Amino acid sequence: MSESSDTPSTSLTDGDDPAFTDGNDPALFDKVVNLCKRRGFVFPSAEIYGGFRSTYDYGPNGVLLLRNVKNAWWRSMVQLRHDVVGLDAAILGPPQIWEASGHLANFTDPLVDCTSCQSRWRLDKLEDPDTCPNCGAVGKFTEPRDFNLMFKTHAGPIADAGAVCYLRPETAQGMFTNFANVLNTSRKKPPFGIAQIGKSFRNEITPGNFVFRTREFEQMEMEFFVPPDEAEEWYRYWCAERFAWYQSLGMPAELIRLRPHGDDELSHYSSGTSDVEFRFPWGWDELEGIANRGNFDLTQHATHSGEKLDYFDPATNERYVPHVIEPAAGATRTAMAFLLAAYDEEEVRGETRTVLRFHPRIAPYTVAVLPLSKKPELMGPATDVYRTLAEHFMCDYDETQAIGRRYRRQDELGTPFCVTFDFDSLDDHAVTVRDRDSMEQERVPVDALVEYVRARIG
Ligand code: ATP
Repeated sequence: MSESSDTPSTSLTDGDDPAFTDGNDPALFDKVVNLCKRRGFVFPSAEIYGGFRSTYDYGPNGVLLLRNVKNAWWRSMVQLRHDVVGLDAAILGPPQIWEASGHLANFTDPLVDCTSCQSRWRLDKLEDPDTCPNCGAVGKFTEPRDFNLMFKTHAGPIADAGAVCYLRPETAQGMFTNFANVLNTSRKKPPFGIAQIGKSFRNEITPGNFVFRTREFEQMEMEFFVPPDEAEEWYRYWCAERFAWYQSLGMPAELIRLRPHGDDELSHYSSGTSDVEFRFPWGWDELEGIANRGNFDLTQHATHSGEKLDYFDPATNERYVPHVIEPAAGATRTAMAFLLAAYDEEEVRGETRTVLRFHPRIAPYTVAVLPLSKKPELMGPATDVYRTLAEHFMCDYDETQAIGRRYRRQDELGTPFCVTFDFDSLDDHAVTVRDRDSMEQERVPVDALVEYVRARIG
């Protein structure tokens, strides 16, 4: 089978994707979407039943990429900080949470119907609010209606009003409702943060652009609780810190920016919000929002629950409701941005080489072990090399096809290092390490391999 013969049969994107405008690189978008299917990054969910409404499954390589994005976030937000602790809160929640947070009343998007073709649109995302992107009819939209994005369901066998609950539309509320629990058990005091990674659900009117906007997605959020008079300073700190995180994982400077919201974009309780934006093929769009939320969330939950959600500072004898700085990022959306940023093609000896230039911490596999031939005298020791490396790194092992084809396959997965075990290796106990980006090869003693790879990950 030729390398390109297994292109997807099921469309990976919805028909309602917005037109490409600024940025405008539909070719790159299509190439990345196709590669995702062809190389096992992302599959349309329930594909054998024709797919299901903009839901996606992460395949063997996609799940590694997504996990690496989440691990990199957790490492920088929790592991490397003594002032942030982790949490994994429930996805199902009672209406009281969402009443207090304002989501029941306000988590809505303006929905319009086209009376000409019956398609439905989110008004604030339309390029021209009078023209239907589907049929081109002008002035045929209904008056906008507020459409609540939360998924409603029932807990227990009886679907009555008392059993109503919601799938969380963001992970943040679990951090607020557990504020006192964490404060009382973790020996932290403001300024401190609670971080969480997990699934969120929004009944988006127009999901689309592949995994950019889906109804089920993963978020990486942190609530940082601070003394009120330090809020502004911490807000600026977290804007800089979060922006630097993307750069530390190899995001090219020309593809990301930090955009402060204008006054008209701010929610009523926020005194400052900035978005980290990525230059998607259709233009600049949000990866993460960093917001100075004041004491809105804790005050709301204290009022609605009747519990005290404040902090008594024994040093000053003062009691106050901490203010909150919230960096809220999308894990699935960020994984897509890393894929788009990494995609590259170049001419090598008259052939096009497709390569994902991931940072080694993001690449699905860090190393691939490739015995030069399937001869048993090579496969045994090559498997030993694999086992040694796999203790330390995500490591692939591939003994099929000619070595050149196997290198190209690893290039398309973004594997930074390929280790080839050849006949000389039997005598000199060394292997050839091929660098994904330069394609240069270097002889490295098997005993020094783990340290060699570790040093090059950075
Ligand atoms: P948008 O304006 O794009 O609907 P938002 O401003 O409502 O997004 P937030 O509530 O701030 O988004 O969520 C934080 C992050 O979660 C976003 O920056 C994005 O990365 C991610 N996210 C939000 N909604 C979705 C979705 N439907 N699909 C994938 N990721 C999402």
